[in-house]
Amino acid sequence: ANEVKDISREKSGQLFEEAKGYFPGGVNSPVRAFKSVYGTPLFIERGDKAHLWDADGNEFIDYCCSWGPLILGHNNCEIREAVAAQLDKGLSFGAPTALENKLANLIISNNRYLEKIRFVSSGTEAVMSAIRLARGYTGRDKIVKFEGCYHGHSDSLLVKAGSGLVTFGETSSAGVPKAFAEQTIVIALNDYDAVKQVFADFKDEIAAVIIEGVPANNGLLIQEKAYVDFLREITKENGSLLIFDEVITGFRLGFEGAARYYEVQPDIITYGKIIGGGMPVGCYGASNELMSHISPDGGVYQAGTLSGNPVAMAAGIAALSILARKGFYEKLEQTTQQFVQQIKDYIAEKNYQVQLFTIGSIFWFAFTDKTSIRRADEIVHESMEHYKIMHRELLNRGIYFGPSGYEVGFISAAHTQEDLNSTIEAIKVSLDIVFA
Ligand code: PMP
Repeated sequence: ANEVKDISREKSGQLFEEAKGYFPGGVNSPVRAFKSVYGTPLFIERGDKAHLWDADGNEFIDYCCSWGPLILGHNNCEIREAVAAQLDKGLSFGAPTALENKLANLIISNNRYLEKIRFVSSGTEAVMSAIRLARGYTGRDKIVKFEGCYHGHSDSLLVKAGSGLVTFGETSSAGVPKAFAEQTIVIALNDYDAVKQVFADFKDEIAAVIIEGVPANNGLLIQEKAYVDFLREITKENGSLLIFDEVITGFRLGFEGAARYYEVQPDIITYGKIIGGGMPVGCYGASNELMSHISPDGGVYQAGTLSGNPVAMAAGIAALSILARKGFYEKLEQTTQQFVQQIKDYIAEKNYQVQLFTIGSIFWFAFTDKTSIRRADEIVHESMEHYKIMHRELLNRGIYFGPSGYEVGFISAAHTQEDLNSTIEAIKVSLDIVFA
């Protein structure tokens, strides 16, 4: 009785075949290829509010939200009007504009953890630049990252853990020189001893420790405050910087992101995604003192032809102006909590072996009986088979989740109660099928 037919993928299939002739794997970013789930990637034609339409005319309620940027949903009219107004004036000047000041003011005046920022065009660029600043400032080369955190695709960060508690990283991509990977030390999250060992083994060599504000790229690995405080203290004691990569958490957990959530002052913070209202924008920021090391003031070089792009700035200003309104985050988080709780109640009632982790308006399904997961190696790879089934059942019922069980889901302010209610029903049926 619960069975539904697979959605039509005829047009998407044709477009995908064509795309394979143009792009490696037919895509411009790997996870879009739907390799971890059933079927062909859906070619999207249009989005409005919380809804998406693909090339075959299938309609979905979207919980991927362009991987996080769309906290206001698709086609927000205030963002669209701001972008349209800027289009009349020009697309790019490569010169300063008042728009950059306005967006910077919105960010800095609402954030106690930053004094100065620099706009770039992606999260990858923001993090790459933050790492360079940390190295330039400290005069040290090594960085420490955590297994399970993603920080974009720059060379220093495409590194995974070797064997052992503390080891030099191994490249996680062909084309990253071994010599680069050796400057990145990768350790497990939530492991105090590993961090202590790093600073014992590489005293005076660590430029920075980088962590996602709340790790959300490999499941949702929510860290304890005590651990984040510990990272703050040990970096300070050793003259190393603490970098919070808030590309996902920035403006998702409020204007001050995870820094505020943990009440920790990082040395450098990186942002992306939401900050551009759906356009390509990232930024990194720090104290005036640290930022004075960036060119043209200082010796750390960093630049960009399209940095501070006026159309992107206009979108970001419109988006952040809405987010700055009183009660925005409280309402979104309340909506998310109610959504999550109803699903949790159902899981408990049926005694299904699945957890729903959540923070702010982010959620993640983990097919396990563990009630907390803080490290990447606590995720059972085999459990992704369950996600694969759920993903297909949800798509067939008009619900669009990220195409991998390691991806989190996002609730936007555009999700209506009706959207959420029908999603809950679809999730219940899908879980019944997974556990049948
Ligand atoms: N850092 C984090 C925490 C991210 O989630 C991402 C993207 N998912 C990046 C950096 C890289 O951002 P981009 O894809 O815009 O280069």
